[in-house]
Formats: sequence, C-alpha cells, structure tokens
Amino acid sequence: MANIINGKLVAQQVKENVRNEVEQLKNSGVDICLAVVLVGNDPASKVYVRNKKLACEKVGIISKEILFDENISQIELVSAIKDLNNNNKINGILVQLPLPKHLDEKEIIRSIDPMKDVDAFHPVNVGKIMIGEYDFLPCTPAGIVDLIDSTGIDICGKNCVVVGRSNIVGKPMTMLLLNRHGTVTVCHSKTNNLIDFTKNADILVAAVGIPNFITADMVKPDAVVIDVGINRMQDGSLCGDVDFSNVEKVAGYITPVPGGVGPMTIAKLMENTLRAAKKQNSI
Ligand code: NDP
Repeated sequence: MANIINGKLVAQQVKENVRNEVEQLKNSGVDICLAVVLVGNDPASKVYVRNKKLACEKVGIISKEILFDENISQIELVSAIKDLNNNNKINGILVQLPLPKHLDEKEIIRSIDPMKDVDAFHPVNVGKIMIGEYDFLPCTPAGIVDLIDSTGIDICGKNCVVVGRSNIVGKPMTMLLLNRHGTVTVCHSKTNNLIDFTKNADILVAAVGIPNFITADMVKPDAVVIDVGINRMQDGSLCGDVDFSNVEKVAGYITPVPGGVGPMTIAKLMENTLRAAKKQNSI
C-alpha cells in the first residue's frame, strides 16, 4: 500500500514558516497585504476566495477583497488593477479565475504588475521560470514540488510524466521538474498510447480534470503519484483525476483528494505574497 502524502501537514509547515516571517516583518514596521479581485458570483470562486482570506488571517497577512459586478467592463477592470499596482500598501494582487466570458483574461493578467503577480501567471514571470531566474513560482506546481520533496525522493534523474499541459498547472509543472533535473515527458489529449508513458513514470502528475482518469494499470509500481484534479461529483463530493482506491495498491506514494495538492496551492500563495513584500521592501 502506498504512503499517503499529507498535503495538509506539509502546507501547515509552509504556512508556519510564513507566519513567523510575517510577524518579524510586522515587528519592524512592514505590514503585508494581498488584494484578491473577484468578478461576479461564481460559487466555486467564492469558496476559493474565502479560503485564501482565511489563510491570510492565519499567517498574519492583511487580505483586501475587491468585488466587482459580473458586468464590469474590460476597461474598468484594467483600470482597477492599475490602481492596485500603484498602491504601495498592496504587495500582491490575485485575480480569481475564471473571469466572465466577455472579459479578456490574458489582457487582465498582463495588466498586473509582475512584481505583485503572486500567482506567477504574467508572461514576464512565466518567461523567468523558463530561464530559471524567477521571482515567483506558480502556486500549484511549486506546492507539488514540496510534496514530492516531503517523500525524500530526489527528483534529479527520475522519469517524470505530467499528464495535462495547461498554462496554470501542466506547463509550469514540467519546467519546475526540469529545473530540478527530472527527465520530463508531457502528455495531453492528443498523446497516443498514454499508458506507455505513464507506466514508465517514477513521478506521475495528473492534471487532467477527469475523475478517476489514471487507473492502477497505468502506474509503475512504487511510483510517486500526484493528483492535481478537483472534480465535483453529482453527490457534491470531490474526486481526483486518480483512481485512488486502486492506485494506492500500486504506487509508493500518493496524494489524496481532498487534502493533497489543494492545501499546498494556498500555502504557496501565502509564501509568494511574503516574497513580493520582501522584494518590494528590498529585504
Ligand atoms: P485544463 O482543462 O486547463 O487542462 C487539462 C489538460 O488535460 C489539458 O492539457 C488536456 O489536453 C489534458 N487532457 C484532457 N483529456 C485528456 C486525455 N484523455 N488524455 C490526456 N490528457 C488529457 O485543466 P487545469 O490544468 O486547469 O486543471 C486540471 C485539474 O486540476 C482540474 O481538475 C482542476 O480543477 C484541478 N486544479 C487543481 C488545483 C489545486 O489547487 N489542486 C489548481 C488548479 C487546477 P489538451 O491540452 O490536449 O486539451
């Protein structure tokens, strides 16, 4: 049976470190503030924003929730973000995605000051990750690297397979594994014979968005299996992209859903906000 990677525990350790540093900065007169921009009334987005606010409270970061009506225009939203860019009391800016369809998400992300882009989605930050000289790492992939490290298994030289190539998970994940000297293969919906790749993975990251997509026969014995998927089932429960109950019989390490990658994403957001504040204050 696989060892369960406890994302809640690893996330707690990350947040504890952040909390200590935030307190030290506060004692020297530096307050840290994260602005979270939410457009519209999407229930899932509201839950994510609430969780981020709670995490801020726990680590001592001030959170400023900025709510807009779902009919806000592109120009109005860009202008609001520019105000946040120019406000030196705001250290980090996060725009909760997805945005309503009439808004150009890419332009909105480009309007965030890269030094306040704590999600690391701005093209400047994405480019910096490509050359290994980054200010911020995207929260979910960075959290996954911490989870892999928590197993004691060295990424260096391992066969790493990432299933999914989205801009927010799959692609940056491949870069972070590559930066840690993994031998990385990226698979996607056009990949032929997916199992031939996954079966050879020492480290397998599933970011597909299809419940129970990775089955036990696709997994190499003793592999580290990271399940990024968050799929809401009809009964309201959450399900990952990995068929947990069967894959745990094959894998060496596995993340549960919930309680695996999810808590790490928020913990890394706290870390990035702290990092932004330190950079802005030349600390
Ligand atoms: P996207 O829908 O943007 O990307 C899904 C990827 O999966 C695409 O690259 C797609 O390939 C690939 N894919 C789809 N079907 C197949 C298939 N049959 N075989 C192989 N690859 C396939 O999703 P995200 O990356 O944004 O998210 C993935 C999952 O992770 C979702 O469940 C999401 O909710 C969750 N998530 C969880 C987070 C957390 O904190 N735990 C954070 C972010 C996301 P192609 O490019 O060819 O279409």
